[in-house]
Amino acid sequence: MSVQFRDLQKQYQMLKPQIDAAVMQVMTDCNFISGAQVKDLERKLADYVGVKHCITCANGTDALKLAEMAYGIGKGHAVFVPDFTFFSTAETVADLGAVNVFVDVDPDTYNMSPVALEAAIKRTQEEGKLIPRAIVAVDLFGLPADYPAISAVAKEYGLILIEDGAQGFGGRIGEKKACAFGDIATTSFFPAKPLGCYGDGGAIFTNDDAIAAQLRSLCVHGKSGNDKYNNVQIGMNSRLDTIQAAILNVKLDAFVKYELDAVNHVAAMYNSYLADKVKTPVVPEHYYSSWAQYTIQLPSREMRNALQAELKEIGIPTMVYYPRCMHEQGAFEHFSYNGECPAAEQLRNTVLSLPMHPYLEDDQIKFICDNVIALLLHREGV
Ligand SMILES: *Cc1c(COP(=O)(O)O)cnc(C)c1O
Repeated sequence: MSVQFRDLQKQYQMLKPQIDAAVMQVMTDCNFISGAQVKDLERKLADYVGVKHCITCANGTDALKLAEMAYGIGKGHAVFVPDFTFFSTAETVADLGAVNVFVDVDPDTYNMSPVALEAAIKRTQEEGKLIPRAIVAVDLFGLPADYPAISAVAKEYGLILIEDGAQGFGGRIGEKKACAFGDIATTSFFPAKPLGCYGDGGAIFTNDDAIAAQLRSLCVHGKSGNDKYNNVQIGMNSRLDTIQAAILNVKLDAFVKYELDAVNHVAAMYNSYLADKVKTPVVPEHYYSSWAQYTIQLPSREMRNALQAELKEIGIPTMVYYPRCMHEQGAFEHFSYNGECPAAEQLRNTVLSLPMHPYLEDDQIKFICDNVIALLLHREGV
């Protein structure tokens, strides 16, 4: 039986007539930059998420950087970032000259621990070298971070809260959707994310009119609002191509209509097969995940690596997200680290992400779980 880790081909085959027509329309119009489809998509995304403004841009990394630029984050500032995330979350902070303070995560949800966050803020205040300025909370693997608790900490210490929703689009807490949390939120349309395009793409979400206007300027070379050739600040060239917007307009419909339900069905099936056998991902009450990844934990690094190798031989692809913590990245090796992130260090040894996408079929899920269980039992037996 053949299983894809994320089946983009099957998705394209399902949506081919609409996607092909949408792309051909862009070719006919030749409005390759800032075509009508971009505005259309931004309206739809803002309405879906439930915020006032959506500003699309070239990728999820730029989205983070633009959001941080809009709030003036830079030299002398401390930004609190989870130690267990994709590199971009910390990369943009360093790129702007601010300093990352890595915060441990909750070993059940994989997301930033509000308790560790407060401890890190206090430590930074006591050291007195940097001004605590912002928190970047990540919706890792599709699950919104603990925004009720993290927002309270942000408020208490007067920090800007940025939601890195690159993996979180489609998730929610109660009725509130991912990318509507914090002061500002960002997402990515990298092809393998919950809502992906056919190249790079990203978006920023905000309810703040002034910040939205600032972002519209920053993503087009710092142009002024009414005179395109008067550049009033140093910005970037970061826009979503019209072709990508046209594709996303089609894919957003499928995402909302059935893909989100489908990945939640896959996760529920995984849970029912695997719950007593391995540590399965925890979704707290009232939370809803968009399942960017379905990530289990094994008892040790040796068992994780062996299981991954054995599954590969059977033709079941898996991934290790992530094999290194942020504080272990070569680029950040100069930062002082005194064992503040034990959960992140444990997770990078034990996590394994199983195939996850809306087009996985029940017999494929059963095939994957049967093999995971058989290999684990075999290992216990020897
Ligand atoms: C993918 C990702 C990004 C960056 O998105 P790109 O579109 O690849 O630039 C940022 N943060 C997290 C958590 C991500 O997973």
